[in-house]
Amino acid sequence: MRGAVLCAPRDIRFVEREDPKIIEPTDAIIRMSATCVCGSDLWDYRGINPITEPKPMGHEYCGIVEEVGSRVRSIKTGQFVIGSFFASDNTCPICRHGYPSSCVHRELVGGAQAPLLRVPLADGTLVATPELPPADLLPDLLALSDVMGTGWFAAVAANVEPGATVVVVGGGAVGLLGVLSAKQMGAERIIAMSSHQSRQKLAREFGATDIVSERGDEGVARVKELTHGIGADSVLECVGTQDSMMQAIHSTRPGGSVGYVGVPHGVELNGPELFYAHVHLHGGPAPVRRFLPKLIDLVCNRKINPGKVFDLTLPLEQVAEGYRAMDERRAIKAFLIP
Ligand SMILES: [Zn+2]
Ligand SMILES: [Zn+2]
Repeated sequence: MRGAVLCAPRDIRFVEREDPKIIEPTDAIIRMSATCVCGSDLWDYRGINPITEPKPMGHEYCGIVEEVGSRVRSIKTGQFVIGSFFASDNTCPICRHGYPSSCVHRELVGGAQAPLLRVPLADGTLVATPELPPADLLPDLLALSDVMGTGWFAAVAANVEPGATVVVVGGGAVGLLGVLSAKQMGAERIIAMSSHQSRQKLAREFGATDIVSERGDEGVARVKELTHGIGADSVLECVGTQDSMMQAIHSTRPGGSVGYVGVPHGVELNGPELFYAHVHLHGGPAPVRRFLPKLIDLVCNRKINPGKVFDLTLPLEQVAEGYRAMDERRAIKAFLIP
């Protein structure tokens, strides 16, 4: 098969790769119905994470089970399944507490920008849809593999409650779906901090009531203005830089909560500043697997449409253009069809 490999910064190639095989008896092989490029893939693409050897790319996936190992019980060939970027057993104490992305047996699922993918711990990792989904739901279902689950976790971690005032820092796909999640959870006011016009429009469609395009201290001052000088109950940090993290903490009212899901790059917190901010901080790699059954239900009943974040569709062999378009911010998120 051919799949995407990152060979050097900004050098994505669609090249011959070995077909994945069952290695452990708990594995499954799935045939990809659709895959995509993640904002976090851009950290590698831009060379911010060093590349020591050619790296098969992609970790967002959904498709049809082609083969299962001898110890796979609940997942069957022919099912349409979705999984998260971390494989998990769904049985250990950490999974049972709702944190499968820190499962004691967790394993990164990589190389999904390809027609076939090996998924470890298939019974724990994969969730099947009740029936084979119609083609028009594919973007919505693929979004559940990461961005929608991550935006949802940001809202859960930020303790969004009905009637709450919420700030979302970050206008990328995760931030946009953080807006959608906060809306689903009953937030009354949703302030999206985003400087990009087409993204502001989608934020409004997903439920944002206010847009703040200023950043840093100016952005915080705008949020304070909009919240009677107090700050927001819940703030979703969906970027992962020092600026976005401080913007999130400073936009939160004392006693409020920050849910942070942007993978931190160069973020350092100052002790006294954190102490006097008086906020709850919770975040980390989203336990997407926990939310899959609920989110699949919402999508299959057409209650949410997270697939709207895909504003560029390409055949998989043009994956390099997907990276370029996202890197140059011509696209929010690229949808790839094998
Ligand atoms: Zn991702
Ligand atoms: Zn586990």
